[in-house]
Amino acid sequence: MGKTTGFIEYQRRTPAECEPMERIKNWNEFSVPMEEEQLREQGARCMDCGTPFCHVGRMLSGMASGCPLHNLIPEWNDMVYRGNWQVALKRLHKTNNFPEFTGRVCPAPCEGSCTVGKNGDSVTIKSIEKAIVDRGFAEGWIVPEPPLTRTGKKVAVVGSGPAGLACAAQLNKAGHSVTVYERADRIGGLLTYGIPNMKLDKKKVQRRVDLLAAEGVTFVTRTEIGRDITAAQLQEENDAVVLCGGSTKARDLPLEGRELRGIHQAMEFLTLNTKSLLDSELADGEYLSAAGKDVVVIGGGDTGTDCVATSIRHGCRSVIQLEIMPQSPLTRQPGNPWPEWPKVLKVDYGQQEAASLYEEDPRRYLVNTKRFIGDASGHVQELHTVRIEWKRTEDGRMAPVEVPGSEEVIRAQLVLLALGFTGPEETVLGELGVERDERSNVKAEFGAQATNVEGVFTAGDMRRGQSLVVWAINEGRQAAREVDRFLMGSSNLP
Ligand SMILES: Cc1cc2nc3c(=O)[nH]c(=O)nc-3n(C[C@H](O)[C@H](O)[C@H](O)COP(=O)(O)OP(=O)(O)OC[C@H]3O[C@@H](n4cnc5c(N)ncnc54)[C@H](O)[C@@H]3O)c2cc1C
Ligand code: SF4
Repeated sequence: MGKTTGFIEYQRRTPAECEPMERIKNWNEFSVPMEEEQLREQGARCMDCGTPFCHVGRMLSGMASGCPLHNLIPEWNDMVYRGNWQVALKRLHKTNNFPEFTGRVCPAPCEGSCTVGKNGDSVTIKSIEKAIVDRGFAEGWIVPEPPLTRTGKKVAVVGSGPAGLACAAQLNKAGHSVTVYERADRIGGLLTYGIPNMKLDKKKVQRRVDLLAAEGVTFVTRTEIGRDITAAQLQEENDAVVLCGGSTKARDLPLEGRELRGIHQAMEFLTLNTKSLLDSELADGEYLSAAGKDVVVIGGGDTGTDCVATSIRHGCRSVIQLEIMPQSPLTRQPGNPWPEWPKVLKVDYGQQEAASLYEEDPRRYLVNTKRFIGDASGHVQELHTVRIEWKRTEDGRMAPVEVPGSEEVIRAQLVLLALGFTGPEETVLGELGVERDERSNVKAEFGAQATNVEGVFTAGDMRRGQSLVVWAINEGRQAAREVDRFLMGSSNLP
């Protein structure tokens, strides 16, 4: 601990952000890098407590408490305070292959369990993480580090999201020859075609992919395993296979009028937008435009927020985000104590932007959609909604009950369904005969990551269901260690 009184002397500061009314004019990242002096002060706020809950990464009440990657947070906070940036970077890369991704998009469960946060404002851990790795790239400290020897073993990784990339990075480090197969035209999974550019600049994803390629990982795009190459062929040609295909089956809303034009899955909207942006800066028109439209996003989560922000950048006329759950409280409730993840109201970037533009938060809580109504040409025109209350049923469950007389009609020419995902796709799993759990995810014990099929492992959303980038990296690393053990009899990978 560099400065014993740091947490008393300095207040928490987070990076400044480009003003909402300015940033909606482009697709750039909007967080402004912090000055070195400020970062050192923020590092000095760390108490280096005896039990650093921030890096424990355990599930408490169903949510992560502390960093799932067990990042050595107090260590690098201290190094940043002392100006030892290069050492801080080394410590950071020990546990996290891609801090430039988590430093931008992680919801930072570490900060929710920071001891300083028990009585005040937590240390700004995520921003320090981002600053360390950004500086590492700027200074040229991050260079390809190919393994010195090769084992002669071949591993195929299916899917190039954060789980597949972390797994490939670790296996390659151990000297195995890794090929990552991706059906999309670009590598990155949801890092590329899910999270919008203003949250995670795609050049940063490509920069890491280029590094991995320079270290010896082979990437094959536009190739779907189970269609272009059979899973059996992959097994035959490799010593092990790791399935990192994500949780890609989007939940639908099969209501009256669902077949109308103008109603789309959020992922279709977001993927096409990023692809067109990267291919032609939206000049090819190969995306679903929200320009001039009244947009309704159904789903109050992060994917819904990304749809709000994307619609605003297109120049929509209005945007409403419907949520079936109640608004979260403003402060921690007694049933949600520290160091649990704080279940409090978050005003995310999309909501800030909508509030600046239309002078109100776009979210409407406790609203259920009843039906979609179209115009004469078969295009959606309005949603019919009703307010609900959550009430306990006789068998003790909470269930939505409609509030009489609360029906409403909302005008919409574009409706985006952001209702989460129900599990992985069948193709490869069926062909391999991989067992599934009760939620239809791939059945494999956390940490062991092995499926019921000899030599076939799994990681990320495909195993745990829709989750976070930080968990995908964690699982990818664990799968790599287990594959290494399977191939070599033991492993030095963490
Ligand atoms: C819109 C959106 C925004 C999000 N924002 C955040 C955020 O801000 N912060 C955060 O922490 N998390 C966020 N998440 C969640 C996070 O992106 C995921 O948890 C994470 O990407 C999962 O990683 P993964 O590697 O398991 O799978 P994915 O990233 O889904 O990657 C799976 C890849 O496998 C490929 N694939 C599937 N089957 C095959 C096959 N048969 N052959 C070849 N390729 C195949 C797919 O094309 C895909 O590219 C967001 C999710 C969405 C949808
Ligand atoms: S990866 Fe996430 S939880 Fe871990 S230190 Fe970074 S921001 Fe915190």
